[in-house]
Amino acid sequence: MQSDIVRLARARLLIDQPWLSELIMRLTLVESPECQTTATDGKSLFYAPEFFGKCNKSEQMMLIAHEAMHAVLGHCDPHRVGGRQPSRWNIACDYAINLMLDEAGMTLADGALVSKKYTGMTAEAIYAALPKKSGGGCGGLRPGTSSPAERAAVMTALAAAAQALKRAGRGGSAWQAYLDEAAAPPLDWRDILRAELSGVRRGSDDFSWRRPSRRGMALGCYLPSQIAYVPGPIAIAIDTSGSMAMAEIAEAVAIVRDVSEREQPDILVMLADQAISAEVRLAMGEHWEPGKVSGGGGTDFRPAQRRASELGIETLVYVSDMAGPMLPHEERGATKTIWITRTRDIPKNETVIKIGE
Ligand SMILES: [Zn+2]
Repeated sequence: MQSDIVRLARARLLIDQPWLSELIMRLTLVESPECQTTATDGKSLFYAPEFFGKCNKSEQMMLIAHEAMHAVLGHCDPHRVGGRQPSRWNIACDYAINLMLDEAGMTLADGALVSKKYTGMTAEAIYAALPKKSGGGCGGLRPGTSSPAERAAVMTALAAAAQALKRAGRGGSAWQAYLDEAAAPPLDWRDILRAELSGVRRGSDDFSWRRPSRRGMALGCYLPSQIAYVPGPIAIAIDTSGSMAMAEIAEAVAIVRDVSEREQPDILVMLADQAISAEVRLAMGEHWEPGKVSGGGGTDFRPAQRRASELGIETLVYVSDMAGPMLPHEERGATKTIWITRTRDIPKNETVIKIGE
């Protein structure tokens, strides 16, 4: 019943401020009586039901918009907060957000932290300009991390929101700082992929047991000869379906080479359209020169996804235009799929790294 109030407020906000929709829908609503008011960790919006129920409709909309802005602006990211004092950081972020919401034409609650002198400044700049002892601020920011791919997706959504506001003749210099940030060259996809792969378990075994150490044998125990940094189980699938141009396939081949050279993992390369047509295993840093790439069939991601899952591969990187059936998340087992694509047409709930533009 209580959560209905939040959902209703969110629906009202979507109608009232449609430019916010992409940003709001990223947040999961989580009932959290202990937060007393509202809070966010960048992914969820926590609300105390009793507090929320007592706010009037316009205050409720503002609370959701406010927390959504904290989330999309990366205010919860520990890397961004750095060594800053949390409550002062929270206040700086509130000043940044409230100016943006004010420029977007929303009605701020009484007592909201807003000052024109901070117009056009990022939260970091406002923090530096704030008096050492500052009071106020909203319910709170909980530390939360986003992957580089998630951050990139959020920045795209934020830029789209800013553009929508601009078209509507709203959003001014407080937005400009973030528009500039969003317009800055995006992170190179290689860096994003590297960050995504850095969490991948490096090998099924940290030790190589094949060549026992002589010293260990002499001591009567079977010690591994070395602590080999055995690279992890990564698969890269290249979509060779008819919808992929030769240039795109060549690009995918270059991606395999790049990952192999930079990350030095063992890689299982699969060429696939509606079926897997080839499998190649590359050892650490091994150079891959594909022969003639056959394919040209219909697109289906499921065979390669199934194969990766059966092999217990942790991360499947799929280079594709993404137009085809995918395995439902519950059938992917422990395998995470990361898509590398040029398409703008990106399904929800997928980890996507965009290349080109
Ligand atoms: Zn706040």
